[in-house]
Amino acid sequence: MIMKDSFSYVPYSLRTNAPFGTAHGVRSHTEIMIVRLSYDGITGYGEASMPPYYPENQQSMADFFSKIDIGAIKACDSPNLLHAYLSSISERDTGAKAAVDIAFHDRMGKAGRYSVAEYYDISPRVWFDSCYTIGVAPMQEMINNVLEVKDFKYIKIKLNGTDDLKIIKAIREVSDQPLWVDANQSWINASYASTLIRHFEELGVEMIEQPFKVGQYGDVFQLAEETDIPIVADEDCQRLIDIPKLSRYYDGINIKLMKCTGLYEAKQMIALARTLDMKVMIGCMSETSIGISAAAQLAYLVNWVDLDGNMSLSNDPCAGVKHINGRIKLQDMEGIGLTDTDGLERLFIEKS
Ligand code: MG
Repeated sequence: MIMKDSFSYVPYSLRTNAPFGTAHGVRSHTEIMIVRLSYDGITGYGEASMPPYYPENQQSMADFFSKIDIGAIKACDSPNLLHAYLSSISERDTGAKAAVDIAFHDRMGKAGRYSVAEYYDISPRVWFDSCYTIGVAPMQEMINNVLEVKDFKYIKIKLNGTDDLKIIKAIREVSDQPLWVDANQSWINASYASTLIRHFEELGVEMIEQPFKVGQYGDVFQLAEETDIPIVADEDCQRLIDIPKLSRYYDGINIKLMKCTGLYEAKQMIALARTLDMKVMIGCMSETSIGISAAAQLAYLVNWVDLDGNMSLSNDPCAGVKHINGRIKLQDMEGIGLTDTDGLERLFIEKS
């Protein structure tokens, strides 16, 4: 049976196996939207995941999706035309746009029988080292969590401005793995960072993500003067347009599809960051295998891969990239490489 041309979406609540803590708070579920784009008998899937501290929610996404015209999407011959079309609908709604962009890429790859990586002429390499993220929790729990991910090449530790040095020291006692630190804006200023940074260098911290509040560039500059540990913008880096300014302060950027409207702009961001001599991380929110498999298509192009967002889910409705012994394996398949979409189809059937 050939499905008629359609764009549809279904709300979904992602649950994690254990509560996950960051400087923004603790949560055990994330509301997302799953989208499906079908035309000429070929279907692609996408996803919008927005944690509660971001401005979008399922209602704003539904509003955005209601403005989508399937005819206008069909008329887009390439991801850049789709990007222009989505930009014409609204200025923001980056997560909702990412969902459409991912579904478009997935469908396009299936139609042309190539993977998204192939479409962008990215190396066919399939294995990548991803970090595993340890959330903020009581110290012993963080240590136990580190002990469970010994096979990961890198560990990213979430800090929240309390006991930061104590936590990194305690983790170093049980692990030799290179450590990345994500403060999620929790460090008050460069003077506070100064009290940590020599110790962090000695303890083998290899990267620091978003130490200060958004826009606190003077403190980033001061910290960067003090250390060779690369400092990476996450909350400070949303879109392509942010990058030139950030290059004056930061060593690198963390790109997430949900922040930047999807694969097309992410690819542009990587290219621009490179011309400005910046390092690049590809990261994620709490996302299903749809968002993670999409982002993994770009993994070959970046310095740091942080795509563990689907690992700790208890209700991922599909499968894509595999996590094996601390590494991720890109599926050499069409589109974004989803391997099991029956669970997704069930969600759309239940909704209708
Ligand atoms: Mg971060």
